[in-house]
Amino acid sequence: LQVDENVENSNNFLIPHFMELKMSENTIDITIVGAGIVGVTIAIELLKKGFEVIIIEKEVRWGRGISSRNSEVLHAGIYYPENSLKAILCRQGNILLREYCEKREIGISNSGKLIVGWEKSHLNRLEEIRVNALKNGVYLKFMNKDEVAELEPVLNVVGALFSPQSAVLDLSTLIHSLYRDFESLGGMGAMGVEVTSLEKTSTAWMVRGKESDGGVFELESKVVINSGGLYSDSIAKMAGVDLKREDLELNWCKGDYFSLVAEKAKLIKRPIYPLPDKNGLGIHFTPDINGQVKLGPDTYYIEKEENYSVNPEKIEYFFESVKPFFPPIEKSDIAPLMSGIRPKLQKPNGVFRDFHIEEDLPGLINLIGIESPGVTASIALARFVVSSFFSC
Ligand SMILES: Cc1cc2nc3c(=O)[nH]c(=O)nc-3n(C[C@H](O)[C@H](O)[C@H](O)COP(=O)(O)OP(=O)(O)OC[C@H]3O[C@@H](n4cnc5c(N)ncnc54)[C@H](O)[C@@H]3O)c2cc1C
Repeated sequence: LQVDENVENSNNFLIPHFMELKMSENTIDITIVGAGIVGVTIAIELLKKGFEVIIIEKEVRWGRGISSRNSEVLHAGIYYPENSLKAILCRQGNILLREYCEKREIGISNSGKLIVGWEKSHLNRLEEIRVNALKNGVYLKFMNKDEVAELEPVLNVVGALFSPQSAVLDLSTLIHSLYRDFESLGGMGAMGVEVTSLEKTSTAWMVRGKESDGGVFELESKVVINSGGLYSDSIAKMAGVDLKREDLELNWCKGDYFSLVAEKAKLIKRPIYPLPDKNGLGIHFTPDINGQVKLGPDTYYIEKEENYSVNPEKIEYFFESVKPFFPPIEKSDIAPLMSGIRPKLQKPNGVFRDFHIEEDLPGLINLIGIESPGVTASIALARFVVSSFFSC
């Protein structure tokens, strides 16, 4: 995998001792904090290079964080600014993850997705999106009303963009498959251990944690990779990173989903998105791999509390958002389903922020702000970490 050289990797520390990283009696090569899709894919790539790797995860099972609360869409890389890590890793990750799913026979749709406009004034915006996607190397086909009707007969549109590379994944099977790969490559998982402190010693990091049964966990590691999702900023802070100075404080941004009754769900064959707004992609329809359709997510910033409840009063807003392009919907067709929380570096109404993937302190690599398209990008992102910090 070649990562575009235009994207500067601005880390100053490049793990100096990577060639010497070898198993020793008391010190492990690499500790990864967080067994989400990002931590597990990075671990796999490092194990393939011959490093000894342990993943420490506070939940008793892998993949229970953001990785289990999202839309399960394999994104093409349409909206991100040109040359951003999000754009590059999404495009590369789309290819790599699709290959992986096909090889392992993990469910993946081949229906593409539609971005629809239902008013004449939407056509210019669709064209802007098409041009931006092209800059990212992503081809979108403009379709007129009749062409759209051939794909999705019930939609009310004046035109749409068709993205053939977008797809829907069976994410739960994918994460289990990745974790099995991690184990079969010799990776070690410490589940139910919450990392509570990271202390630099002269040559390594002392990683301390709390086990779910109250026990104390302690390990010395030459390198620590922080892929702690919603808590990645707090973990960096534990190690001594000044979040305020580095502008690395995460903002939590929730997204709620509603379900669509089966009778209406069968009218939709692929993800259908409206035009995006400043903070998100707009309330869209996503059929999962079994044909059940989710509406959402919406986008709103919250206090840092893992509260996944969904306010049923939002039905009105969800209904009004999709009714213009999906006329068959009735309010009684939708019900609260689930929610997820995005770890955003972007502040409310703030400017675009890219993934932060840096060696912020010697031997500490932080992955902060790994929001969407984190699932899509995962394998490409893992290879980016290896090529940036563990190669000559
Ligand atoms: C609403 C929503 C929709 C999305 N839709 C899509 C989509 O359609 N397509 C796409 O590509 N991406 C999507 N994403 C983004 C994607 O889900 C994330 O980028 C990805 O799952 C991040 O994975 P992760 O491994 O970084 O985080 P996580 O899966 O959260 O993993 C981090 C892990 O770290 C653990 N942890 C945290 N603190 C500690 C600690 N102190 N000690 C030990 N362990 C710790 C957590 O328990 C967790 O398991 C969406 C995200 C959201 C919220």
